[in-house]
Amino acid sequence: MSGNARAEIDAFMNKVKGNHPGQPEFHQAVQEVIDSIMPFVLENARYQQDGLLDRIVEPDRCILFRVAWTDDKGETHVNRAYRVEFNNAIGAYKGGLRFHPSVNLGILKFLGFEQVFKNSLTTLPMGGGKGGSDFDPKGKSDSEVMRFCQAFMTELSKHIGPNTDVPAGDIGVGAREVGYLFGQYKRIRNEFTGTMTGKGLSYGGSLIRTEATGYGAVYFMENMLNARGDSVKGKNCTVSGSGNVSIYTTEKVLHLGGKVVTIKEYTEKWGGEYYEGKRPWHVKCDLAFPSATQNEIDAEDAKALVDNGCIGVSEGANMPTVPEGVEIFMNAKIAYGLGKAANAGGVAVSGLEQSQNAMRYSWSREEVDNKLQQIMKDIHEKCAEYGTEKDGFINYVNGANVGGFVKVADAMLAQGVY
Ligand code: GLU
Repeated sequence: MSGNARAEIDAFMNKVKGNHPGQPEFHQAVQEVIDSIMPFVLENARYQQDGLLDRIVEPDRCILFRVAWTDDKGETHVNRAYRVEFNNAIGAYKGGLRFHPSVNLGILKFLGFEQVFKNSLTTLPMGGGKGGSDFDPKGKSDSEVMRFCQAFMTELSKHIGPNTDVPAGDIGVGAREVGYLFGQYKRIRNEFTGTMTGKGLSYGGSLIRTEATGYGAVYFMENMLNARGDSVKGKNCTVSGSGNVSIYTTEKVLHLGGKVVTIKEYTEKWGGEYYEGKRPWHVKCDLAFPSATQNEIDAEDAKALVDNGCIGVSEGANMPTVPEGVEIFMNAKIAYGLGKAANAGGVAVSGLEQSQNAMRYSWSREEVDNKLQQIMKDIHEKCAEYGTEKDGFINYVNGANVGGFVKVADAMLAQGVY
């Protein structure tokens, strides 16, 4: 990178940190993208106009609201809730809802920012957004979760719609929560539309949506390995996490002839090791699938993976590797598929769910799976287009960030300054 690019990046990041104080995850997500796109922007004067970079890191709007609900004993609780509508240059806002005690505005801005580039990469017309609450569904009864979801949607329903903003699930928001949220939306607005994705199959959900993030992460790994003349077949894999992403990552690894050496249900049946509450990165493996949450791989973990011979990482979670860890992967020149490319299969099938809802039609399992495979292949190609280095090494970080940026930036430039 030229000295000029470095200086521009540092000045830009100082401004971002000043404008968004106390939001380290958001700074981390912006830093990664700006590191990739600044050299490209400096070479392409078109992208230096109209305050484009300043506008792209600033959410269109952030909605903050109180959610009050009563527990089964009749006691009242208050949670804080958010929807970050980040960018709708290429389509209506799209992105999940996270219910977890760690949720705050900075976390949702990081996730919303990632979503803008991820959604652009899917090839589908989706803008980026993210929302959620510090509510913890763990340990709550179904009726408590229902009352919380109803109270949450009573406010959120004012801000979303099939052509405006289409939420879905994320950590803590699965089929049960989406059902309650969709039910309340329908009740308030009296309309049956595809305003939420991740819906149940009996009321407009898409086949393969539950599996999509995990399957997509493995398809992406297969594409990365194929580009190196290799494949998932016969490889030892570690998978972290205990939600949908890790379950369907495991299923697809097995389907493609790989072996999973760490995960609960699988190890109970087939042997191997399960580390309760621990991260599995010190276990020897060929391929790693981080599928839990942000910053779950620190620099030491990354080093252990590389030292143990790991040749590929495909991130089912959002931003699971700290920046120093990413650097270790890049220096080792392993196949490193960052989250916004590798886990885009989830939101891609959400986009396919929106299409099916708009057509009032549903595609078969095979049709959706074929489209998902094609989308992951297209994302890989886009990364290779913008990220192939002189020695042939594909830098997926630069490829995904620049590839995702160009489409959004062109749309923003075409639509004028606002
Ligand atoms: N939460 C998922 C993600 O991080 C899916 C979002 C969606 O389906 O809208 O991409």
